[in-house]
Amino acid sequence: MDLFKPMDNLDDKTDGQNKQVEEREHVKCLIIGSGPAGYTAAIYSARANMEPVLYQGMEPGGQLTITTDVENFPGYPDGISGPALMEDLKKQAERFGTDIRWGSATAVDFSRIPHKVTIDDKKVIEADTVIIATGASAKYLGIPAEKKYAGSGVSACATCDGFFYKGKDVAVVGGGDTACEEALYLAGLARKVYMIVRKPHLRASKIMQHRVMNTPNIEILFEHNTKDLFGDGVVEGAVLIKKKGTPGEEEVKIKIDGFFLAIGHKPNSDIFQEYIETDDIGYIKTIPGTARTNVEGVFACGDVQDRVYRQAVTAAGTGCMAAIESERYWAEKYAQTK
Ligand code: NDP
Repeated sequence: MDLFKPMDNLDDKTDGQNKQVEEREHVKCLIIGSGPAGYTAAIYSARANMEPVLYQGMEPGGQLTITTDVENFPGYPDGISGPALMEDLKKQAERFGTDIRWGSATAVDFSRIPHKVTIDDKKVIEADTVIIATGASAKYLGIPAEKKYAGSGVSACATCDGFFYKGKDVAVVGGGDTACEEALYLAGLARKVYMIVRKPHLRASKIMQHRVMNTPNIEILFEHNTKDLFGDGVVEGAVLIKKKGTPGEEEVKIKIDGFFLAIGHKPNSDIFQEYIETDDIGYIKTIPGTARTNVEGVFACGDVQDRVYRQAVTAAGTGCMAAIESERYWAEKYAQTK
């Protein structure tokens, strides 16, 4: 990597947001994010001599580090744990020389080339190409009780926190694959697991539906919405509304010790939105069939740009696309001059 390469604006000591910064560095390829998309992009970029620098972000390894068994990633006939899969991908990226670092992108300036990305509010990286692989984060219902009991009974990760609810009663909100997975995991620890599902049916795949319905200590509360949580310092129960908005509407209380959110994810695209086009939810728009964004030299891959599939394997696939396209872009634009 080339440190302190000449730039057209050397006197500018801000990050593009008019904040003073402490350090600068120039790289050929900057990868933001360390899920399957980021690490796959790193493997391909490193093997193509793009000397990638990868910042791991707030959740190193991404969402798979908080999941249990991954049974659908090709190449693992017996399944693999999420953290083990991410460790393998990390090692593979390191083997080809990826510079993997702690830190998160906190601001960007894509208004001119080279693009600027600020890390942890204090260091600016100037990058010829940027690969955004920041993924998505768990969504919350938005009720005040979630904040009130954060870390005291409210969680968005059964694998991380399930252990604390051994022999206790818990609830999981949501009816998708994540909710089923969380409920099944918790069913192995807790005495009883309620699934709070707002529709009269589950959205999850048939195999997951079959598993939860055949687990004796899981009870599915269809057509229930969460109104509030109660408890003295820690969660002791939830107030639910059954058949909301119908003549049969009814308030129901359940006694629980843990309340787990599994209602989907929000793409982590906030810091890019000034420059990068997103859809109404915030998913980055890429040119169909490519990993290109509306900004030259900036590519996106993985869950931050995928509102449809959101799978580890599709994230890895788009990570590969982003790396190949960024290398081709770099070769066309810079190979003669550097
Ligand atoms: P989904 O978007 O598939 O499901 C979200 C669930 O939460 C839905 O049941 C939805 O209800 C419910 N929900 C959303 N907002 C609220 C709210 N405000 N109040 C109450 N309920 C709410 O997200 P997942 O995270 O489950 O899955 C994302 C993707 O990842 C999917 O494609 C899934 O198949 C995949 N996945 C695959 C796994 C695997 O194969 N092992 C494991 C986990 C995920 P409604 O149905 O009414 O909209």
